[in-house]
Amino acid sequence: MNPLYTKWIFHGEGITKSNEVPDTYRMFRDACFENDDVREPTYNRSLPDYDNLLEEAKTPLYGGCDWTKMSATVALYKLKARHGLSNVGFDELLEVIGGFLPKDHTLPNSLYSTKNVLKEFDLGYEKIHACVNDCCLFWKTKEKDVVCETCGSSRWKVVKHTGEINEVIPAKVLRYFPIKSRFRRMFRNAELAEQLTWHDTNKSQDGMMHHPVDSLAWKSIDNKWPSFVSEPRNLRLGLSSDGFNPFGDFSSRYSCWPVILCTYNFSPTICMSKENLMLTLLIPRPKQPGDDIGVYLQPLIDDLKELWLDGMSVYDAFRNETFNLKALLMWTINDFPAYANLSGYSTKGTKKKGDNRKVNRKRKRSDLNIDGDEDDNDHDDDVDDDGDDPMKLTRRWKKKSIFFELPYWQDL
Ligand SMILES: [Zn+2]
Repeated sequence: MNPLYTKWIFHGEGITKSNEVPDTYRMFRDACFENDDVREPTYNRSLPDYDNLLEEAKTPLYGGCDWTKMSATVALYKLKARHGLSNVGFDELLEVIGGFLPKDHTLPNSLYSTKNVLKEFDLGYEKIHACVNDCCLFWKTKEKDVVCETCGSSRWKVVKHTGEINEVIPAKVLRYFPIKSRFRRMFRNAELAEQLTWHDTNKSQDGMMHHPVDSLAWKSIDNKWPSFVSEPRNLRLGLSSDGFNPFGDFSSRYSCWPVILCTYNFSPTICMSKENLMLTLLIPRPKQPGDDIGVYLQPLIDDLKELWLDGMSVYDAFRNETFNLKALLMWTINDFPAYANLSGYSTKGTKKKGDNRKVNRKRKRSDLNIDGDEDDNDHDDDVDDDGDDPMKLTRRWKKKSIFFELPYWQDL
Protein backbone atom coordinates (compact mmCIF):
# COMPACT_ATOMS: atom_id res chain seq x y z
CA MET A 1 0.00 0.00 0.00
CA ASN A 2 1.17 3.51 -0.73
CA PRO A 3 1.01 5.46 2.57
CA LEU A 4 0.81 8.77 0.68
CA TYR A 5 -2.37 7.75 -1.12
CA THR A 6 -4.75 9.20 1.44
CA LYS A 7 -7.40 10.68 -0.85
CA TRP A 8 -8.71 7.77 -2.92
CA ILE A 9 -9.17 9.69 -6.15
CA PHE A 10 -8.49 6.61 -8.28
CA HIS A 11 -11.18 4.75 -6.37
CA GLY A 12 -13.94 7.29 -6.85
CA GLU A 13 -13.40 9.53 -3.80
CA GLY A 14 -14.29 13.13 -4.49
CA ILE A 15 -16.29 12.24 -7.58
CA THR A 16 -19.67 11.76 -5.90
CA LYS A 17 -21.60 14.95 -5.25
CA SER A 18 -22.26 15.46 -1.57
CA ASN A 19 -26.04 15.49 -1.93
CA GLU A 20 -26.30 12.22 -3.81
CA VAL A 21 -26.30 9.84 -0.85
CA PRO A 22 -29.19 11.49 1.00
CA ASP A 23 -31.15 11.51 -2.28
CA THR A 24 -30.58 7.79 -2.64
CA TYR A 25 -31.77 7.21 0.92
CA ARG A 26 -34.88 9.22 0.22
CA MET A 27 -35.42 7.11 -2.87
CA PHE A 28 -35.19 3.94 -0.75
CA ARG A 29 -37.56 5.39 1.78
CA ASP A 30 -40.02 6.48 -0.81
CA ALA A 31 -39.93 3.28 -2.81
CA CYS A 32 -39.95 0.92 0.10
CA PHE A 33 -41.58 2.37 3.14
CA GLU A 34 -44.82 3.61 1.70
CA ASN A 35 -47.89 1.49 1.12
CA ASP A 36 -46.95 -1.19 3.63
CA ASP A 37 -50.62 -1.90 3.81
CA VAL A 38 -50.93 -2.68 0.12
CA ARG A 39 -50.27 -6.20 -1.02
CA GLU A 40 -48.58 -5.98 -4.36
CA PRO A 41 -48.66 -8.68 -7.03
CA THR A 42 -45.89 -11.26 -6.71
CA TYR A 43 -42.73 -10.28 -8.49
CA ASN A 44 -42.23 -12.07 -11.77
CA ARG A 45 -38.84 -13.78 -11.77
CA SER A 46 -39.03 -14.84 -15.42
CA LEU A 47 -36.50 -13.45 -17.85
CA PRO A 48 -37.95 -10.34 -19.45
CA ASP A 49 -37.90 -9.76 -23.17
CA TYR A 50 -35.10 -7.21 -23.27
CA ASP A 51 -35.59 -6.20 -26.89
CA ASN A 52 -39.19 -5.23 -26.26
CA LEU A 53 -38.21 -3.48 -23.06
CA LEU A 54 -35.49 -1.51 -24.82
CA GLU A 55 -37.98 -0.50 -27.50
CA GLU A 56 -40.37 0.53 -24.76
CA ALA A 57 -37.61 2.58 -23.09
CA LYS A 58 -36.94 4.40 -26.36
CA THR A 59 -40.60 5.31 -26.85
CA PRO A 60 -40.75 9.11 -26.94
CA LEU A 61 -43.00 10.87 -24.47
CA TYR A 62 -44.88 12.12 -27.52
CA GLY A 63 -44.05 12.52 -31.20
CA GLY A 64 -40.93 14.72 -31.61
CA CYS A 65 -40.15 14.93 -27.87
CA ASP A 66 -36.54 14.39 -26.69
CA TRP A 67 -37.74 12.81 -23.44
CA THR A 68 -38.63 9.14 -23.51
CA LYS A 69 -41.39 7.48 -21.50
CA MET A 70 -38.74 5.88 -19.26
CA SER A 71 -36.60 8.99 -18.70
CA ALA A 72 -39.65 11.12 -17.88
CA THR A 73 -41.03 8.46 -15.51
CA VAL A 74 -37.73 8.12 -13.63
CA ALA A 75 -37.23 11.91 -13.46
CA LEU A 76 -40.67 12.47 -11.96
CA TYR A 77 -40.34 9.56 -9.54
CA LYS A 78 -36.99 10.93 -8.31
CA LEU A 79 -38.66 14.31 -7.83
CA LYS A 80 -41.36 12.68 -5.72
CA ALA A 81 -38.74 10.89 -3.62
CA ARG A 82 -36.49 13.94 -3.17
CA HIS A 83 -39.24 16.26 -2.00
CA GLY A 84 -41.40 13.76 -0.13
CA LEU A 85 -44.44 14.28 -2.36
CA SER A 86 -47.41 12.25 -1.14
CA ASN A 87 -48.96 9.53 -3.29
CA VAL A 88 -52.10 11.58 -3.84
CA GLY A 89 -49.98 14.63 -4.67
CA PHE A 90 -47.98 12.61 -7.18
CA ASP A 91 -51.14 11.30 -8.87
CA GLU A 92 -52.43 14.87 -9.15
CA LEU A 93 -49.09 16.07 -10.53
CA LEU A 94 -49.19 13.38 -13.23
CA GLU A 95 -52.73 14.38 -14.10
CA VAL A 96 -51.74 18.04 -14.47
CA ILE A 97 -48.62 17.27 -16.54
CA GLY A 98 -50.64 14.83 -18.67
CA GLY A 99 -53.08 17.65 -19.40
CA PHE A 100 -50.22 19.81 -20.76
CA LEU A 101 -49.01 17.07 -23.10
CA PRO A 102 -50.41 16.10 -26.51
CA LYS A 103 -53.18 13.50 -26.40
CA ASP A 104 -50.95 10.66 -27.65
CA HIS A 105 -48.43 11.03 -24.77
CA THR A 106 -47.06 7.94 -23.01
CA LEU A 107 -46.56 9.33 -19.49
CA PRO A 108 -48.04 7.03 -16.82
CA ASN A 109 -51.20 8.48 -15.34
CA SER A 110 -50.78 7.33 -11.74
CA LEU A 111 -48.23 6.22 -9.14
CA TYR A 112 -49.41 2.64 -9.61
CA SER A 113 -48.70 2.78 -13.37
CA THR A 114 -45.35 4.47 -12.68
CA LYS A 115 -44.29 1.65 -10.36
CA ASN A 116 -45.38 -0.89 -12.95
CA VAL A 117 -43.18 0.80 -15.58
CA LEU A 118 -40.20 0.70 -13.20
CA LYS A 119 -40.88 -2.95 -12.31
CA GLU A 120 -40.80 -3.96 -15.95
CA PHE A 121 -37.19 -2.82 -15.95
CA ASP A 122 -36.38 -4.89 -12.87
CA LEU A 123 -36.26 -1.86 -10.68
CA GLY A 124 -38.83 -3.58 -8.52
CA TYR A 125 -38.45 -5.87 -5.56
CA GLU A 126 -40.01 -8.87 -3.89
CA LYS A 127 -41.93 -8.41 -0.68
CA ILE A 128 -41.46 -11.33 1.70
CA HIS A 129 -43.41 -11.39 4.95
CA ALA A 130 -41.48 -12.18 8.14
CA CYS A 131 -42.36 -13.25 11.66
CA VAL A 132 -42.70 -10.23 13.91
CA ASN A 133 -40.11 -11.85 16.24
CA ASP A 134 -37.67 -12.59 13.40
CA CYS A 135 -38.02 -16.41 13.69
CA CYS A 136 -38.67 -17.06 10.00
CA LEU A 137 -39.72 -15.77 6.63
CA PHE A 138 -43.12 -16.78 5.26
CA TRP A 139 -41.41 -18.03 2.18
CA LYS A 140 -40.90 -21.24 0.20
CA THR A 141 -42.48 -24.08 2.27
CA LYS A 142 -43.90 -21.53 4.71
CA GLU A 143 -45.30 -19.27 2.03
CA LYS A 144 -48.92 -20.04 2.91
CA ASP A 145 -48.49 -20.15 6.71
CA VAL A 146 -50.40 -17.56 8.68
CA VAL A 147 -48.76 -18.26 12.04
CA CYS A 148 -45.08 -18.62 12.94
CA GLU A 149 -44.50 -22.25 13.91
CA THR A 150 -41.71 -21.25 16.31
CA CYS A 151 -43.31 -18.52 18.40
CA GLY A 152 -46.96 -18.71 17.35
CA SER A 153 -47.13 -15.06 16.29
CA SER A 154 -49.52 -14.05 13.56
CA ARG A 155 -48.18 -13.26 10.12
CA TRP A 156 -50.51 -10.26 10.10
CA LYS A 157 -50.56 -7.12 12.15
CA VAL A 158 -52.46 -7.42 15.41
CA VAL A 159 -54.37 -4.33 16.55
CA LYS A 160 -52.83 -3.46 19.92
CA HIS A 161 -55.94 -2.65 21.97
CA THR A 162 -58.49 -5.05 20.52
CA GLY A 163 -56.19 -7.96 19.64
CA GLU A 164 -57.91 -8.11 16.27
CA ILE A 165 -55.88 -9.50 13.35
CA ASN A 166 -55.77 -7.35 10.23
CA GLU A 167 -55.27 -9.79 7.38
CA VAL A 168 -54.24 -7.08 4.94
CA ILE A 169 -51.25 -5.61 6.75
CA PRO A 170 -48.27 -7.95 7.27
CA ALA A 171 -46.53 -7.72 10.66
CA LYS A 172 -43.10 -7.36 9.07
CA VAL A 173 -41.88 -7.19 5.48
CA LEU A 174 -38.48 -7.90 3.95
CA ARG A 175 -37.72 -6.35 0.55
CA TYR A 176 -35.53 -8.44 -1.73
CA PHE A 177 -34.13 -7.02 -4.95
CA PRO A 178 -33.32 -10.23 -6.85
CA ILE A 179 -29.68 -10.34 -7.96
CA LYS A 180 -29.76 -12.82 -10.83
CA SER A 181 -31.78 -10.69 -13.22
CA ARG A 182 -29.57 -7.72 -12.40
CA PHE A 183 -26.39 -9.66 -13.21
CA ARG A 184 -27.99 -10.65 -16.50
CA ARG A 185 -28.74 -7.02 -17.20
CA MET A 186 -25.11 -6.04 -16.53
CA PHE A 187 -23.94 -8.40 -19.28
CA ARG A 188 -26.65 -7.20 -21.67
CA ASN A 189 -24.82 -3.86 -21.70
CA ALA A 190 -21.78 -4.31 -24.01
CA GLU A 191 -19.72 -1.63 -22.25
CA LEU A 192 -20.29 -3.12 -18.79
CA ALA A 193 -19.73 -6.66 -20.10
CA GLU A 194 -16.29 -5.58 -21.32
CA GLN A 195 -15.45 -3.82 -18.04
CA LEU A 196 -16.42 -6.90 -16.03
CA THR A 197 -13.17 -8.62 -17.07
CA TRP A 198 -10.96 -5.66 -16.09
CA HIS A 199 -9.46 -7.63 -13.19
CA ASP A 200 -8.10 -10.30 -15.52
CA THR A 201 -5.56 -8.08 -17.28
CA ASN A 202 -4.87 -5.36 -14.75
CA LYS A 203 -2.99 -6.92 -11.89
CA SER A 204 -0.58 -4.57 -10.14
CA GLN A 205 2.85 -4.25 -11.79
CA ASP A 206 4.55 -2.08 -9.17
CA GLY A 207 4.12 -4.26 -6.07
CA MET A 208 1.49 -1.90 -4.63
CA MET A 209 -2.04 -3.04 -3.94
CA HIS A 210 -4.41 -1.06 -6.16
CA HIS A 211 -7.41 -3.34 -6.15
CA PRO A 212 -8.56 -6.54 -4.37
CA VAL A 213 -7.16 -8.42 -7.39
CA ASP A 214 -3.71 -7.78 -5.87
CA SER A 215 -4.68 -9.24 -2.49
CA LEU A 216 -3.71 -12.57 -0.96
CA ALA A 217 -7.39 -13.48 -0.60
CA TRP A 218 -7.87 -13.14 -4.36
CA LYS A 219 -4.80 -15.28 -5.07
CA SER A 220 -6.00 -17.89 -2.59
CA ILE A 221 -9.29 -18.18 -4.51
CA ASP A 222 -7.30 -18.49 -7.76
CA ASN A 223 -5.45 -21.46 -6.27
CA LYS A 224 -8.43 -23.21 -4.69
CA TRP A 225 -11.01 -23.00 -7.50
CA PRO A 226 -9.17 -22.94 -10.85
CA SER A 227 -12.31 -23.87 -12.86
CA PHE A 228 -14.15 -20.85 -11.42
CA VAL A 229 -11.16 -18.64 -12.20
CA SER A 230 -10.81 -19.94 -15.76
CA GLU A 231 -13.87 -17.87 -16.72
CA PRO A 232 -12.85 -14.23 -15.99
CA ARG A 233 -16.46 -13.08 -16.36
CA ASN A 234 -17.40 -14.99 -13.20
CA LEU A 235 -18.24 -12.46 -10.52
CA ARG A 236 -16.37 -11.85 -7.28
CA LEU A 237 -18.54 -10.05 -4.78
CA GLY A 238 -18.35 -8.29 -1.44
CA LEU A 239 -21.28 -7.82 0.93
CA SER A 240 -21.79 -4.84 3.16
CA SER A 241 -24.48 -4.04 5.70
CA ASP A 242 -25.11 -1.52 8.43
CA GLY A 243 -28.06 0.26 9.97
CA PHE A 244 -29.21 3.73 9.02
CA ASN A 245 -32.13 5.93 9.77
CA PRO A 246 -34.02 6.41 6.50
CA PHE A 247 -36.03 9.31 7.88
CA GLY A 248 -33.02 11.48 8.60
CA ASP A 249 -34.74 12.61 11.78
CA PHE A 250 -32.48 12.73 14.80
CA SER A 251 -35.35 12.08 17.16
CA SER A 252 -36.46 8.94 15.32
CA ARG A 253 -35.33 5.56 16.62
CA TYR A 254 -36.35 3.80 13.44
CA SER A 255 -33.47 1.98 11.81
CA CYS A 256 -33.25 0.15 8.52
CA TRP A 257 -30.65 -2.37 7.37
CA PRO A 258 -29.74 -2.30 3.69
CA VAL A 259 -27.57 -5.17 2.40
CA ILE A 260 -25.38 -4.10 -0.49
CA LEU A 261 -23.28 -6.13 -2.92
CA CYS A 262 -20.30 -4.76 -4.81
CA THR A 263 -18.65 -6.41 -7.81
CA TYR A 264 -14.85 -6.49 -7.75
CA ASN A 265 -14.53 -7.48 -11.41
CA PHE A 266 -14.64 -3.78 -12.28
CA SER A 267 -11.74 -1.33 -12.20
CA PRO A 268 -11.21 0.56 -8.92
CA THR A 269 -12.71 3.71 -10.41
CA ILE A 270 -16.11 2.15 -10.98
CA CYS A 271 -16.37 -0.87 -8.69
CA MET A 272 -17.33 1.38 -5.77
CA SER A 273 -19.40 3.86 -7.80
CA LYS A 274 -22.99 4.14 -6.69
CA GLU A 275 -24.28 2.71 -9.98
CA ASN A 276 -22.44 -0.53 -9.25
CA LEU A 277 -23.27 -0.86 -5.57
CA MET A 278 -26.22 -3.18 -5.70
CA LEU A 279 -28.93 -2.90 -3.06
CA THR A 280 -30.14 -6.47 -2.48
CA LEU A 281 -32.11 -6.46 0.76
CA LEU A 282 -33.87 -3.91 2.91
CA ILE A 283 -34.62 -5.02 6.44
CA PRO A 284 -36.86 -2.36 7.95
CA ARG A 285 -37.77 -2.54 11.61
CA PRO A 286 -37.88 -0.35 14.67
CA LYS A 287 -34.75 -2.01 16.06
CA GLN A 288 -31.73 -3.66 14.55
CA PRO A 289 -32.07 -7.27 13.37
CA GLY A 290 -29.27 -8.41 15.69
CA ASP A 291 -28.27 -12.06 15.48
CA ASP A 292 -31.47 -12.84 13.54
CA ILE A 293 -30.11 -11.10 10.46
CA GLY A 294 -29.44 -14.58 8.98
CA VAL A 295 -33.20 -15.15 8.66
CA TYR A 296 -33.43 -12.15 6.40
CA LEU A 297 -30.36 -13.04 4.34
CA GLN A 298 -31.92 -16.35 3.18
CA PRO A 299 -33.22 -15.24 -0.25
CA LEU A 300 -29.85 -13.70 -1.10
CA ILE A 301 -27.85 -16.70 0.18
CA ASP A 302 -30.11 -19.03 -1.82
CA ASP A 303 -29.39 -17.15 -5.03
CA LEU A 304 -25.66 -16.98 -4.25
CA LYS A 305 -25.62 -20.73 -3.61
CA GLU A 306 -27.29 -21.37 -6.95
CA LEU A 307 -24.87 -19.02 -8.68
CA TRP A 308 -21.98 -21.03 -7.30
CA LEU A 309 -23.27 -24.58 -7.77
CA ASP A 310 -25.06 -24.32 -11.13
CA GLY A 311 -24.47 -20.80 -12.39
CA MET A 312 -26.91 -19.37 -14.88
CA SER A 313 -27.01 -18.81 -18.60
CA VAL A 314 -26.20 -15.20 -19.45
CA TYR A 315 -25.93 -13.35 -22.75
CA ASP A 316 -22.70 -11.33 -23.13
CA ALA A 317 -23.49 -8.38 -25.40
CA PHE A 318 -19.79 -7.42 -25.81
CA ARG A 319 -18.70 -10.85 -27.10
CA ASN A 320 -22.08 -11.65 -28.61
CA GLU A 321 -22.34 -15.07 -26.97
CA THR A 322 -24.11 -16.89 -24.17
CA PHE A 323 -22.10 -18.39 -21.32
CA ASN A 324 -22.62 -19.90 -17.87
CA LEU A 325 -22.08 -17.22 -15.21
CA LYS A 326 -21.03 -18.12 -11.67
CA ALA A 327 -20.43 -15.89 -8.67
CA LEU A 328 -18.51 -16.07 -5.42
CA LEU A 329 -18.93 -13.95 -2.31
CA MET A 330 -15.41 -13.15 -1.15
CA TRP A 331 -16.05 -11.39 2.14
CA THR A 332 -18.25 -9.03 4.11
CA ILE A 333 -17.39 -5.44 4.99
CA ASN A 334 -18.78 -4.18 8.30
CA ASP A 335 -18.10 -2.25 11.40
CA PHE A 336 -17.54 -4.41 14.48
CA PRO A 337 -21.16 -4.50 15.78
CA ALA A 338 -22.53 -5.49 12.35
CA TYR A 339 -19.75 -8.07 12.02
CA ALA A 340 -20.95 -9.62 15.28
CA ASN A 341 -24.50 -9.94 13.91
CA LEU A 342 -23.46 -11.37 10.56
CA SER A 343 -20.85 -13.82 11.79
CA GLY A 344 -22.38 -14.80 15.12
CA TYR A 345 -19.13 -13.95 16.89
CA SER A 346 -19.58 -11.61 19.83
CA THR A 347 -17.41 -8.54 19.56
CA LYS A 348 -18.61 -7.25 22.92
CA GLY A 349 -16.27 -7.42 25.90
CA THR A 350 -16.55 -6.99 29.63
CA LYS A 351 -15.64 -3.79 31.38
CA LYS A 352 -12.33 -3.62 33.16
CA LYS A 353 -12.55 -2.67 36.81
CA GLY A 354 -11.85 1.00 37.45
CA ASP A 355 -12.27 1.86 33.81
CA ASN A 356 -15.91 2.95 33.92
CA ARG A 357 -15.29 6.60 33.17
CA LYS A 358 -13.48 5.80 29.99
CA VAL A 359 -16.16 3.32 28.93
CA ASN A 360 -19.03 5.71 29.63
CA ARG A 361 -17.35 8.48 27.69
CA LYS A 362 -16.82 6.19 24.74
CA ARG A 363 -20.38 4.93 24.97
CA LYS A 364 -21.78 8.46 24.81
CA ARG A 365 -19.97 9.11 21.56
CA SER A 366 -20.83 5.77 20.01
CA ASP A 367 -24.52 5.88 20.95
CA LEU A 368 -25.20 8.14 18.00
CA ASN A 369 -24.27 6.78 14.63
CA ILE A 370 -23.90 8.97 11.57
CA ASP A 371 -27.63 9.15 11.09
CA GLY A 372 -28.31 10.14 14.66
CA ASP A 373 -30.10 7.00 15.78
CA GLU A 374 -29.00 5.00 18.77
CA ASP A 375 -26.89 2.02 18.02
CA ASP A 376 -27.48 -0.53 20.77
CA ASN A 377 -24.80 -2.85 19.53
CA ASP A 378 -22.08 -0.26 19.87
CA HIS A 379 -22.22 -0.50 23.65
CA ASP A 380 -19.08 -1.82 25.26
CA ASP A 381 -17.60 -3.09 22.05
CA ASP A 382 -14.42 -1.20 22.70
CA VAL A 383 -13.39 -3.26 25.72
CA ASP A 384 -12.19 -6.81 25.57
CA ASP A 385 -10.36 -8.50 28.41
CA ASP A 386 -11.17 -12.15 27.68
CA GLY A 387 -7.54 -12.65 26.88
CA ASP A 388 -6.59 -16.06 25.59
CA ASP A 389 -8.96 -18.14 27.75
CA PRO A 390 -10.07 -20.80 25.20
CA MET A 391 -13.42 -21.48 26.95
CA LYS A 392 -14.35 -17.80 26.93
CA LEU A 393 -13.33 -17.48 23.30
CA THR A 394 -15.51 -20.49 22.38
CA ARG A 395 -18.50 -18.99 24.18
CA ARG A 396 -18.17 -15.93 21.99
CA TRP A 397 -19.66 -17.88 19.06
CA LYS A 398 -23.42 -17.42 19.38
CA LYS A 399 -24.68 -19.07 16.20
CA LYS A 400 -23.55 -20.68 12.99
CA SER A 401 -23.58 -17.91 10.45
CA ILE A 402 -25.83 -18.40 7.42
CA PHE A 403 -22.81 -17.68 5.21
CA PHE A 404 -21.62 -21.24 5.95
CA GLU A 405 -24.48 -22.43 3.73
CA LEU A 406 -22.33 -21.21 0.85
CA PRO A 407 -20.35 -24.35 -0.07
CA TYR A 408 -17.07 -22.47 -0.34
CA TRP A 409 -17.34 -20.24 2.74
CA GLN A 410 -15.44 -22.51 5.13
CA ASP A 411 -12.53 -22.72 2.68
CA LEU A 412 -12.11 -19.01 2.04
ZN1 LIG B 1 -41.90 -16.30 15.28
